[in-house]
Amino acid sequence: MSTIRNILLETGYIWHDSGQVSTDTALFTLQTEDGVITAIEPQDSIVSVAASDYDARGLLAIPPTAEYHVHLDKGHFGGPWEAVVPVSGGVQGRIEEERGFLEDSLADLPERAAALMDHMASLGTTFMRIQVNVDPVIGLQNYEIVNQVLQDHAPRMRGELVAFPQHGTLVTESQGLLTQALEAGAPILGALDPASIDGDIEASLTTTFELANTYDREIDIHLHDGGDTGIYTIQRIINYTRDYGMNGRVAISHAFALGHVDDQTVFSVAAGLAEQDIAIFTTQPLWYAASFGARAVPWQILVDTGVRVRVVSDTINDHWSPFGSGDLIERASRAAEIWSQVDEIRLANTYQMVSGGVLPLSSNGELLWPTIGDEATMILTDASCLSEVVARIPRERVMVINGEMDRQPLAQRWGTFGGRAMHLPL
Ligand SMILES: [Zn+2]
Repeated sequence: MSTIRNILLETGYIWHDSGQVSTDTALFTLQTEDGVITAIEPQDSIVSVAASDYDARGLLAIPPTAEYHVHLDKGHFGGPWEAVVPVSGGVQGRIEEERGFLEDSLADLPERAAALMDHMASLGTTFMRIQVNVDPVIGLQNYEIVNQVLQDHAPRMRGELVAFPQHGTLVTESQGLLTQALEAGAPILGALDPASIDGDIEASLTTTFELANTYDREIDIHLHDGGDTGIYTIQRIINYTRDYGMNGRVAISHAFALGHVDDQTVFSVAAGLAEQDIAIFTTQPLWYAASFGARAVPWQILVDTGVRVRVVSDTINDHWSPFGSGDLIERASRAAEIWSQVDEIRLANTYQMVSGGVLPLSSNGELLWPTIGDEATMILTDASCLSEVVARIPRERVMVINGEMDRQPLAQRWGTFGGRAMHLPL
């Protein structure tokens, strides 16, 4: 049981005659028990203060972030700095490159995976869907190591592993490795570019959906293939999802092709995605637009059509890309900026793409979070409202996990961030 005083919560939107919208907030005291919120009381109604109370010092509470696509098994984070080695051949070129180092990198994989997990936890992430290679070079070793690291980080970090055939579904399953990963308990089956990597869209998708169906698992297909091939592949995935009755259990990561076609085509594909509740995970890459003259996936069209969209990190300083901060609030900010989501409500709504769909307020200003019965897990941050968080990306973040406030704020733990020191509990 714990009590957190002076916590700033959003209470509604105010529509002004000028057309401006502002967010209304107030200070509250939260009571928690067994990690769950049991009472939310206005601050000025609280008369007694216990020595064990936490003091949130007026920081704003926002939902924790949820990462839906990140690789922890091939990165440089947690070790010496390395930029990427130039290779040719796109995705296939990177696969050739990693065949050379996958075995050597097993030794310090636990430390590097833990370092990245700790880093993201300190920035506000409490859930991760983690991609781990299952391939003919390292078999299930990455899966087993990262699975152990994840278990060691509970309850601060929860997650689920994707058995990801980085070298192709067909070549990996020809050795029975995907079956082995599913037998070992992998909750999600990955896949990669059925056309360009497996060279056979139907054989690839049939293998993936048959395995997922047999083992009753979700599917996450990484689709870099662009243009007509990419759009055709998405249409086939929609059909397979319908045929296998997997509504709500399939995700497409990247889906770059949606940035290659006109709005009308995006709307039409989005209708099929929404009908089968197929999620789209996008990094909103800047480099992609600059390199190929294409645009980032137009997420606002997808969201308006009812598609579940998650903005994700993907690679963070690994052999694919030197970039990535691990900060999902920064990602949400970039997604808002690319698509000019600049007013109070649109800025705030962008956040649901990095919080697993949770928002403090609906677009009508109704209170959605937190409510009694919710898990008492949140980020406390130095901002007046969520739209300010998305626009300004505040650096001070203190975590509350299951009702317990972190004694060590980010400012102390990482040293490079400014902000006030927190002395807790009072
Ligand atoms: Zn990825």
